Amino acid sequence: EEPAAALAVPQAPDPGLLLLGRVGTVDPAGLDDYRAHGGYTALRRAFALGPAGVIREVTDSGLLGRGGAAFPTGRKWQATASQPDRPHHLVCNADESEPGTFKDRVLMEGDPYALVEAMTIAAYATGARRGHLYLRGEYPRALERMEHAIEQARARGLLGDDILGQGLSFDIEIRRGAGAYICGEETALFNSIEGFRGEPRSKPPFPVEKGLFGKPTVANNVETLVNVLPILTLGAQAYAAIGTRASTGPKLFCVSGSVARPGVYELPFGATLGELLTLAGVRDGLRAVLLGGAAGGFVRPDELDIPLTFEGTREAGTTLGSGVVMAFDDTVPLPRLLLRIAEFFRDESCGQCVPCRVGTVRQEEALRRIAERTGADAAADITLLREVGRAMRDASICGLGQTAWNAVESAIDRLGAYE
Ligand code: NAD
Ligand code: SF4
Repeated sequence: EEPAAALAVPQAPDPGLLLLGRVGTVDPAGLDDYRAHGGYTALRRAFALGPAGVIREVTDSGLLGRGGAAFPTGRKWQATASQPDRPHHLVCNADESEPGTFKDRVLMEGDPYALVEAMTIAAYATGARRGHLYLRGEYPRALERMEHAIEQARARGLLGDDILGQGLSFDIEIRRGAGAYICGEETALFNSIEGFRGEPRSKPPFPVEKGLFGKPTVANNVETLVNVLPILTLGAQAYAAIGTRASTGPKLFCVSGSVARPGVYELPFGATLGELLTLAGVRDGLRAVLLGGAAGGFVRPDELDIPLTFEGTREAGTTLGSGVVMAFDDTVPLPRLLLRIAEFFRDESCGQCVPCRVGTVRQEEALRRIAERTGADAAADITLLREVGRAMRDASICGLGQTAWNAVESAIDRLGAYE
């Protein structure tokens, strides 16, 4: 297992970065060191602003969720805060499992107190008294560091009752995932915490109204929460000036594949895909880039001027998702790659609804026939793939089934994968 700083190369350690600035610089086990590097100034500002003031700052900052769906964080916080039903819960979704995504791991391993502080601010703003950190089971170092940070914060009065003498009671409990991709879907995650099978619930009702244990719940990704710290320390206006009008602030990108320097890169929204790949040292013979992970889509080497923003990738007919950028050179056999993606979705489907349970199997079968040249008619299999893909997209309960055909479709339409 590589240490966080190595995963974050080549940018960290660089104290100028807003999200990765402490990674590789701060002692991840040292609360005093965290404070010496600016830790807990955001929480103090939050107390000065009051809960409504914090929500106003987060709303004015334009922060969009970094888990992949880009929902406005301020709207989510406001919706939960205004629910009369009590208690409110805070869930930090750290079940990072989108293939090619490892940014939350770097944050938790390299700067764990930042997440503790950010969760405390989110709880203060939304009226949650209990925080649940749902951590990917395959992240043992992140678990160890988050456990230590939570214990130390508790011992120093930064979690528990009357935090910093401000009357706030809040504590964090860690729950480990057990390796199921679907448990990263927020409602499946709630079921998992509650002791049920990790199956998604139908939405609406949205978690802000009826979430964990049926109570109003804010569920945010790790990177989303950590962004709240610079929003409060810089102020909403200064934060919103970073990036573009519609995608504000910095973003973490997880670059892997055919590049010389894979790792997590922090860039302001608006840099182009080509600029990021140049930083990472893209190798010769680039064939395709997968944006957004297995649930995302492929783009061609002549599309590297796509701006890395939520709106820019949408306009280009793809998605930024959680910030996955996977480069493939021309030595990678596309049919095998697509088959691997299909195997992943078939394996990870929870099986609750027919379009996804059956569709992911049919998709894998057709892609295997094409890849292994065992079918009678590849064109007929591609027609079948389109029909199955449409059914999964239109009729699946959750994002897994709705997106299980995205990458394959983009490989056929944009890359001419089987021509
Ligand atoms: P979604 O669009 O259904 O919801 C996004 C968030 O907004 C959720 O928290 C939801 O509760 C909230 N929301 C949506 N509409 C709302 C409303 N009207 N009122 C209040 N809240 C509302 O998306 P999703 O299914 O939660 O997530 C899909 C994304 O997850 C995909 O983009 C995919 O890239 C990403 N993903 C990420 C990982 C990872 O490891 N980071 C893994 C799998 C999938
Ligand atoms: Fe389960 Fe797939 Fe249906 Fe989602 S779409 S609920 S993963 S069967």
